[in-house]
Amino acid sequence: MAEDKLPLRSENFSEWYNQLVLKAELADYAPVRGCMVVRPYGWSLWENIQQGLDRRFKETGHTNAAFPLLIPKSFLEKEKEHVEGFSPELAVVTIGGGEKLEEPLIVRPTSETIIGYMYSKWIKSYRDLPVLINQWGNVVRWEMRTRLFLRTLEFYWQEGHTAHATSEEAQEETLRMLNVYADFAVNDAAVPVVPGAKSEKEKFAGAVRSYTIEAMMGDTRALQTGTSHFLGQNFAKAFEIQFLDWNNELQHAWTTSWGLSTRFIGAIIMTHGDDQGLIMPPRLAPIQVVIVPIYKNDAERSKVLEVVERTRQELHGFRVRVDDRTEVTPGFKFNDWELRGVPLRIEIGPKDVEKGSVALARRDMPGKIGKSFVPQTQLVEQVGKMMEDIHLALYDRALAFRKANTYEPADYTELKESVQKGWAFSWWCGSEACELKVKEDTKATTRCIPLDQPGGDGKCIVCGQPASQKVYFARAY
Ligand SMILES: [Zn+2]
Repeated sequence: MAEDKLPLRSENFSEWYNQLVLKAELADYAPVRGCMVVRPYGWSLWENIQQGLDRRFKETGHTNAAFPLLIPKSFLEKEKEHVEGFSPELAVVTIGGGEKLEEPLIVRPTSETIIGYMYSKWIKSYRDLPVLINQWGNVVRWEMRTRLFLRTLEFYWQEGHTAHATSEEAQEETLRMLNVYADFAVNDAAVPVVPGAKSEKEKFAGAVRSYTIEAMMGDTRALQTGTSHFLGQNFAKAFEIQFLDWNNELQHAWTTSWGLSTRFIGAIIMTHGDDQGLIMPPRLAPIQVVIVPIYKNDAERSKVLEVVERTRQELHGFRVRVDDRTEVTPGFKFNDWELRGVPLRIEIGPKDVEKGSVALARRDMPGKIGKSFVPQTQLVEQVGKMMEDIHLALYDRALAFRKANTYEPADYTELKESVQKGWAFSWWCGSEACELKVKEDTKATTRCIPLDQPGGDGKCIVCGQPASQKVYFARAY
């Protein structure tokens, strides 16, 4: 069985991640290189992510729609930066129904072009604006180096696409959705994030300005977990999205797009997991509570199972699983659910039945320290409280970790050291030359220029020229 053990997170983070995704049955490799199969446990997690986001999208006035997977190749060529950015990763369909197609089609890598085309048909007047549409779907980007959830050839996501009458409104929308992502990450996933702007070099192909929420993973590398783009009038001009304004004059609309993908599952795994496996944030956990009955003989069994069933019914407000497998031991079950990261385990044995209590074990605090005994009568209240406690503990731990591994280097030599062990937060003049130098010397890139700036000014950590903003440099996924 030794070779079946999960590698230690502290010893080999990368192998720990790869094997954990498989062992916890979140996803599996598909026959086509770079594609993934999301298994039911992973998809349940994604569904909970979808619900958390979808609720927020609707609260901010958006509605869902669906646009096609296939896009005429010529559409992509209408926006210069967009085509340059995406051409290397396109999947192109040249034959359909056995016939060579007159115009090749691309499998969408993102949908700005086709949605821009449709918006140009739908938007005629300022009265038609704003248009606030989101789509849940999949996209294909022909990636060379792939990893389950983090970078796959096909992935699942949502992409919001909005059109507005003014630049101000579109910029406001871009930041509103960035905040929606940050709120979701913090309050549903317990993942601390830094909201900020991308550099010119790192921005989305075709955007005027891109924003991101960046999170620190358990190996201190950065992961971009959601992005929101102010597209200006770039796509409106390429696709002639025009409207008659209040003065009856023809104007180009201002558009935005924003997306969050199954990559976020990678963020949950790498932010919270430990040597034993996953730790699911309670609000998104596919299973929040697992009940493990413990008994030695038939007499004990019937007594215990009666209480187990009553407990399951009482906890109907939570996502509960009873592990009544008879072919494995309770110890095996404990390890199994720990690997899958179920936030709370309830053990019910004959002694607990006699005492009218149950044993609770917190996943985020392995061993005795996370164990407590609760009277049956207080169980529902205690489980609810514990879900909150675990959420906060996970968030606090991740935030403390990020703080402990974020440095403010005094000079360039220190910067080079800092990005080998964490993030560097430094003054930057904004030039691409300085950004590239750091990348060439260290492989670290600018992650984001946080919206929350310290104020004042300083000297660029690379070139020493005056700088008015601080940026995070880090190695990233
Ligand atoms: Zn500089």
